[in-house]
Amino acid sequence: MKNKIIAGNWKMNKTRAEAEALITELIPLVADTPNTVIICVPFTDLCKAVKLTRGTNIHVGAQNCHWKESGAFTGEIAPSMLKELGVEYVVIGHSERRTYFGETDATVLARTKAALNADLKPIVCIGETLAERQSGKMEEVLTRQIIEGFEDVTAEELQRVIVAYEPVWAIGTGVTATDEQANDAIKFVRGIFARNYGQDVADALYIQYGGSMNDGNAKGLLAMSDVDGGLIGGASLVATKFAAIVHAHE
Ligand code: PEP
Repeated sequence: MKNKIIAGNWKMNKTRAEAEALITELIPLVADTPNTVIICVPFTDLCKAVKLTRGTNIHVGAQNCHWKESGAFTGEIAPSMLKELGVEYVVIGHSERRTYFGETDATVLARTKAALNADLKPIVCIGETLAERQSGKMEEVLTRQIIEGFEDVTAEELQRVIVAYEPVWAIGTGVTATDEQANDAIKFVRGIFARNYGQDVADALYIQYGGSMNDGNAKGLLAMSDVDGGLIGGASLVATKFAAIVHAHE
């Protein structure tokens, strides 16, 4: 059985002082877990997070990166800039970026490839909206996101990728997918990767569930056979809640 990968996505929350307080509280709470712990923090908190977590079992991620190494891209951050800071992971294609910032499967692919080239580990988000699920398009949407979003990602590169299945209707809404809904969707996703890369590669791939996971529902979700971890938004902002999720399945 794989250990779980539990990643917190702080989104646009926490000043440097608040980040320091949260990380300082979190370090002892998760120190003895066999699971992998990642915190994906705002750009402005990255230096502080890397420094505070040095020598601990907490890994640091960013929440986006650009596909170019430099140039006239105001407001963007290059993967190598993150790498230089000591960042290990980067969230790519979160639904909030797809919804509010025009992220497409093509830009997700470009950012993922650039992150891999810079030796970062991308956490690539996919997932259907409520309307897509209700109109029976979930499988079509997930298939398109994987075919187009991973088009020229090689099997070797996929070993450094985490996929986060995040149904958009469950993100930040308090509505969680049931344990079975999460597992079924992830099984379906794994099946597409198996078709494209072979069963062994698909089995080794970490696929997280994300969407209103909290200290109350994490145990059930993480116990499901195909759920390899969680990407957690709101509940990652409180050290005790996030630590409870980290420890929910050990
Ligand atoms: C997320 O931001 O990826 C997420 C799943 O958020 P929340 O846990 O708040 O639904």
